[in-house]
Amino acid sequence: MKKLALHLKILIGMLFGVLFGLALSFINGGGDFISDYIKPFGTIFINLLKLIAIPLILASLIKGVSDLKDIAKLSQMGGRTILIYVSTTLTAVMIGLILVNSIQPGKSISVETREELVEAYATDADQKREAAAKQQEAGPLKALVDIVPSNIFAAASNNRNMLQIIFFALFFGIGMILLPEETGKPVKAFFDSFNAIILKLIDLIMLAAPYGVFALLAALVVEAPSLELFQALALYAITLLLGLAAMIMVYALLVKIFTKRNPSSFFKGIAPAQLLAFSTSSSAATLPVTMECVEENLGVDKEVSSFVLPIGATINMDGTSVYQGVAAVFIAQAFGLDLSLSAQLGIIFTATLASIGTAAVPSAGIVMLVIVLAQAGIPEAGLALIFAIDRPLDMCRTVVNVTGDAAVSMMVGKSIGKLKD
Ligand code: ASP
Repeated sequence: MKKLALHLKILIGMLFGVLFGLALSFINGGGDFISDYIKPFGTIFINLLKLIAIPLILASLIKGVSDLKDIAKLSQMGGRTILIYVSTTLTAVMIGLILVNSIQPGKSISVETREELVEAYATDADQKREAAAKQQEAGPLKALVDIVPSNIFAAASNNRNMLQIIFFALFFGIGMILLPEETGKPVKAFFDSFNAIILKLIDLIMLAAPYGVFALLAALVVEAPSLELFQALALYAITLLLGLAAMIMVYALLVKIFTKRNPSSFFKGIAPAQLLAFSTSSSAATLPVTMECVEENLGVDKEVSSFVLPIGATINMDGTSVYQGVAAVFIAQAFGLDLSLSAQLGIIFTATLASIGTAAVPSAGIVMLVIVLAQAGIPEAGLALIFAIDRPLDMCRTVVNVTGDAAVSMMVGKSIGKLKD
């Protein structure tokens, strides 16, 4: 196994995981065995990745910003990053809407299937609805207020507070830039070395990746719901997958046009992160590996990657955006609702905001979908329709989320001369 490239090892781990899961699901008690004795190793692997997320963001962002040495550079990079992120997100929602309106997957769902699905997943859908209701109760500027933590230790105690950590790291880094170099030197040296240690830890964790994904996929296979429900949702899944594939092509084009790089070398370089995104369904858990791939395989300078990628993992979710457009209209179609043009424009707006607000963890997208549905006046019970198939699609949209961040980091890097040839 030693000489194989990491992404191949991960791929083999995934494949064996699926086969092992399938094989054991035919054996009495096989499913329980996987849940009790195999899945925990997958959970440990994800925990290790999550464990490293906050220290990584702190160290790499503080190091990244302080390396910039001047505020003008920071605001130039920040402006470009946000602009490109918002543009790709809008493109993603629109691609989703165009596809779902042309293919109309919701029209193929019969009333019986609809009722069956709604009934089977009503409780799960209720839970997501409650989670979304909490988010909605807050005032219009709550998202902004939430970015600024009142206590850095409290913020660092929860991986969901990534934006708060990013805020603190940027703020801290700016403070360092504004001081004379001599004054900030010891702290800078500390963070440089802290960062190097964290990167080493990522290398170590990645040694376990093939086994981690094996465990994760084996568990997914034995815990998957029945095949019949999947079939009823096949057209919806195909529509969404087409949208996700279209976004991947958009990135290939962007990379080609803006960085003059061959898209195939881009995809090869980012493959380990994509495979991990697929296995973990979490852009946050994948972040350490995305950073490593982008820096080492794609030649993006650390100054850029350490700034663009943590922000991207939290606010740029193009796969989730495609999904929210497709899923919202699909549910409307399944319930026989015709959405007006203005309702669809509203979806573009709320889906963009919702994807920005989506946490980079599994199933976060479906929580935010509730908000999109509510704004567009689509029955929220429809969530239950897509529940059966949400996890595998979450895996796919997370791949797109991560790929988008990587593509944008290359574009930003190129635009400020920080992309190695
Ligand atoms: N799982 C996705 C991510 O972490 C978010 C989503 O549920 O769409 O990127």
